[in-house]
Amino acid sequence: MRYYSTNKQSPVTDFKEAAIRGQAPDKGLYFPENINALSPVFFKEIEKLQKDEIAYRVIAPYVGESIPEDELRRIASETVDFDFPLVKVDEDIYSLELFHGPTLAFKDVGARFMSRCLGYFSKERSGKVIVLVATSGDTGGAVANGFYGVDGVEVVILYPSGKVSSVQEKQLTTLGKNIHALEVEGTFDDCQRMVKKAFTDEELNQKLFLTSANSINVARWLPQQFYYFFAYQQWSDKNNPPVVAVPSGNFGNICAGLVAYRSGLPVKHFIAATNANDVVPSYFKTQLYTPQPAKATISNAMDVGDPSNFVRMLELFDHEFGTLKNLISSYSVSDEETKQTIIEVYQQHKYLPDPHGAVAYAATKKYLAENKNDKAIFLETAHPIKFYDVVEPLIGETIPLPESLTQIVNEQKKSKKIFAADEELKSFLLKMA
Ligand SMILES: *Cc1c(COP(=O)(O)O)cnc(C)c1O
Repeated sequence: MRYYSTNKQSPVTDFKEAAIRGQAPDKGLYFPENINALSPVFFKEIEKLQKDEIAYRVIAPYVGESIPEDELRRIASETVDFDFPLVKVDEDIYSLELFHGPTLAFKDVGARFMSRCLGYFSKERSGKVIVLVATSGDTGGAVANGFYGVDGVEVVILYPSGKVSSVQEKQLTTLGKNIHALEVEGTFDDCQRMVKKAFTDEELNQKLFLTSANSINVARWLPQQFYYFFAYQQWSDKNNPPVVAVPSGNFGNICAGLVAYRSGLPVKHFIAATNANDVVPSYFKTQLYTPQPAKATISNAMDVGDPSNFVRMLELFDHEFGTLKNLISSYSVSDEETKQTIIEVYQQHKYLPDPHGAVAYAATKKYLAENKNDKAIFLETAHPIKFYDVVEPLIGETIPLPESLTQIVNEQKKSKKIFAADEELKSFLLKMA
């Protein structure tokens, strides 16, 4: 498979190069030259296939010659080595739980796949790869966990001091080994600026091999297709495909779902659910895309005012607004509605969604009110414990700590405090050369 840049000013490249670079040199996003069509037989027998077999068959065409089959099979099966259960919540609404991975959020799949690919590529080259990432919470933990112990790769995570949840901070700072946490005395925007600056610093790039692990990387984006196949595998009424609702921020996840759909996966309709950051719902109303500064909400992993993957959504449908509008409905859900939804779903169905899942659930309700005969799946993208400070007061109960966290909360945090100055990051990195 070859990849072009959505800005069309960079040379076409293969999976390996696209994954190593992250962003194309012309600052566009890499996009596969064609979408692989899966055979009708694959969908017919999908219930009988193991999840690692599904993952391998879905991703193999996109990796092409970059990784040999046996290695890619190993990577795919390690990536999906936990459960993705489809749970019935309401008469016509199901939850696809994507939080059973090591850091309890769906970003584990993309991070695990990408880390293993880079680990494989780094074996072929001399010298270590340094993965730099700025996080506002969930990404850092997933990336840290995904790259933990991967030979030839060092990970440097920048996070804003005092601005991530205590669970998230422990997930970033307790691993050690090849994972280095920098606690920045500043905001997430400072962290992101420092990372961007490092990528363009000549001296750093001469002495080190730096790459980024954010969601525009094809190695993080494309494996997210797996969820949609796992959902369909567990969907019993194969003659009536589900509507799928995706809580969206940067729109990487839903774009992966759209790739799956273009490969032949039966999906009746997509719902793009956002919080108050409503550039995409507005686009569907007005056909105008107007980026906004991000607004802070209780579903903070979706606080994005200019979603980077939006352009991929357009690219997938040749920028045809009519086609997009027929396939996707988009709703914005306020914090108030999100809270109300958490309370209602818990009281009426004994199911506790996290704030991100609740946004998708609320959007699903809006859609089903106008499409009464449909049945829907919403993606539950994080475990509610990650947002206990929001969720617990709403339901008046404490959420039991999942086993994977009982150990980590008692561990000592290991981070290095730095000022929000580009030079501070640079001198830290130079010591790794
Ligand atoms: C990152 C994240 C999202 C948003 O996913 P995008 O691919 O950026 O649209 C939704 N929910 C949770 C819990 C997340 O961490």
